[in-house]
Amino acid sequence: MADLLRHRGPALVLTGAGMSTESGIPDYRGPDGSRRVTPMSHQEFTASGDNRQRYWARSFIGWQRFTAAEPNVGHRAVTALQRAGAFGHVITQNVDGLHQRAGTGDVTELHGSLEEVVCLTCGERADRDLVQAFMADANPGFATAVLGHVPDGSQVSSQIRPDGDIVLPDEAVRAFTAPRCLVCRADTLKPDVVFFGGSVPKERVDLCFALTDAAPILVVLGSSLKVMSGYRFVRRAAAHGIPIVVITKGPTRGDAETTHRIDAPLGVTLSALAADFSHAQTA
Ligand SMILES: [Zn+2]
Repeated sequence: MADLLRHRGPALVLTGAGMSTESGIPDYRGPDGSRRVTPMSHQEFTASGDNRQRYWARSFIGWQRFTAAEPNVGHRAVTALQRAGAFGHVITQNVDGLHQRAGTGDVTELHGSLEEVVCLTCGERADRDLVQAFMADANPGFATAVLGHVPDGSQVSSQIRPDGDIVLPDEAVRAFTAPRCLVCRADTLKPDVVFFGGSVPKERVDLCFALTDAAPILVVLGSSLKVMSGYRFVRRAAAHGIPIVVITKGPTRGDAETTHRIDAPLGVTLSALAADFSHAQTA
């Protein structure tokens, strides 16, 4: 892979949830590709105020843990490889902002970012931190009351999901005051991310297709490619005869299109690759 990057780089990079598991944010899927938990879908979120109340109650608790997550060695290696010229633009399916916090530039967040909230009624935008502060004011004692009350008896912090969601009992959810839009007062605030069943904005898809068309190599990190929103770029690259390198644990939907495949943990693998490049540069 180092040889390929040296001769053909900088590669376009596509990253998935596996990139952040070493930061303590678990994947929705296990290494066998099966779904471990079902996230709230776009259709559920938009269908009812009760569902949005459930989402925000869980997300209010999950946010603290989510924002405490730090970039891992894999994220830092991506930054090093980008600075060494091996990696170019990074398209991520993650909404955790950890690539940027690790210093990686040219990041496109395919599924948006949890840092921003948008009103589905009037389009007003707000920082998530502001919405979090509103929820804290409107729900004094909520976090303390629900801690230790998750269904399996474990700490809430162990229940965090990739989108910042957590598991909460129904009675706790019903007591929660969900946030409202500061402009139109509707209860239709939504994190500005693409939920399962939602669609990526067309201009963002077009940008990523253009990046794929121009890429000398596509490197996929930590994704089983089960979701079409990422897999379509692999298919596009394959159609153009662009070499595709995949580093992830377990099988992927793109195995047939993949040129080189490394079934290994990302942190140690990317660190070794970054070390190889730093040696080459100083040699
Ligand atoms: Zn509004």
